[in-house]
Amino acid sequence: MSKYYDIVVIGGGIHGVGVAQAGAAAGYEVLLLEQDDIAAATSSRSSKLIHGGLRYLESGQFSLIRESLREREILLRTAPGLVHLVPFYIPVYETNSRRPWQIRTGLSLYALLGNLRSAARFRHLPRRQWDRLDGLRTDGLRAVYQYWDAQTDDGALSKAVMRSAQDLGAELECPARFVQAQSQDELLEVSFSAEGGEQRCHCRVLVNAAGAWVNEVLEHLTPRPSQQAVELVQGSHILVPGELKWGIYYVESPRDRRAVLIMPWQDKLLVGTTETPYAGDPAAAKPLPQEIDYLKETLQHYFPGREAEVLDSYAGLRVLPQGQSAVFHRPRETLLHRDPRSANVISVYGGKLTAYRATALKVIKLIRPLLPARGAIADTACLPLRV
Ligand SMILES: Cc1cc2nc3c(=O)[nH]c(=O)nc-3n(C[C@H](O)[C@H](O)[C@H](O)COP(=O)(O)OP(=O)(O)OC[C@H]3O[C@@H](n4cnc5c(N)ncnc54)[C@H](O)[C@@H]3O)c2cc1C
Repeated sequence: MSKYYDIVVIGGGIHGVGVAQAGAAAGYEVLLLEQDDIAAATSSRSSKLIHGGLRYLESGQFSLIRESLREREILLRTAPGLVHLVPFYIPVYETNSRRPWQIRTGLSLYALLGNLRSAARFRHLPRRQWDRLDGLRTDGLRAVYQYWDAQTDDGALSKAVMRSAQDLGAELECPARFVQAQSQDELLEVSFSAEGGEQRCHCRVLVNAAGAWVNEVLEHLTPRPSQQAVELVQGSHILVPGELKWGIYYVESPRDRRAVLIMPWQDKLLVGTTETPYAGDPAAAKPLPQEIDYLKETLQHYFPGREAEVLDSYAGLRVLPQGQSAVFHRPRETLLHRDPRSANVISVYGGKLTAYRATALKVIKLIRPLLPARGAIADTACLPLRV
């Protein structure tokens, strides 16, 4: 028989590496297959925030915010070289769709969900301090609020989690593309193509963390499990020259009033994001000219006179449940899907970079009854993540 693993994980994005780390920490034998490179897809193309997600207040996703703020605290402790707090500013103009009292109420709720820790507090910025805000437009400005969230290098964070998983004994095959899996009694026979050609292994549980490819992977399982109906929604960012001394600005697009972030990033500015329905090969996602114009227009509206020469741009794909409501209001919680007829295959749909560790623990809890008894060797809430 080919080599046996307790868990085979497909996908080396943040969710796949998180499950590999949590699985290895729980004492299981883990193999992760990644077809390209760790964090080659959406996990290096996010807004790079480790945050509760202030905007999820409006869609009532309180448990997601509470969990994410808890995870933010853990990452600030375990990954100080990768995750750091940044001041966020919300300027409220006469034209804003939200009034100052609404922002104040939202921030109070956010602080409560963050257990009123010092990093959950916010303040009202006095008018005399407005002119030091990096050249922010002040005509029509009614109030500015400042609160805290955290920023990371998403690709570096994913790689650090993978290294931690390997330190705990997990194996990585990369590049290695999952080809198919077949159920055989209690086990699955998995085929993947790697540098040496097609290879096989056996596992007790398969975790499908293939991001935008999640349903494509399920097509290659025998018997074929059911799928969740999803929509792919592209989010683009642009990188432009310049610097922001004070922090991150959370503004409304003048065109459609969507939230857009203007962030300092590696001595430049990162502006994002958009929400554009996407169809086609996930590997081919790239910013559209109209998305780039939209982001440039937002930047120059709030920071008049700023240069907006696009030095770089990238697009990531959100995996959202199919639905009638506007993309903005669709749930961002991670969905763990399992067809009862294929109980040893778990698929991870959607989710947040911030909550990857909590998601991975939920996956391990679900699959534990299927796995042989093993002793835990570490607690991921305490494991330091090296840069
Ligand atoms: C625009 C945008 C901004 C975001 N901003 C934030 C943010 O600021 N903060 C936050 O918390 N969350 C954010 N998110 C959410 C977060 O980035 C994603 O939920 C997360 O990165 C998804 O990770 P993943 O591991 O599920 O998927 P991916 O990162 O896409 O990884 C899937 C991996 O599977 C691999 N794969 C696919 N098929 C195969 C196969 N057959 N064999 C082997 N490997 C395969 C792919 O190569 C890929 O590397 C954002 C999302 C988007 C789209």
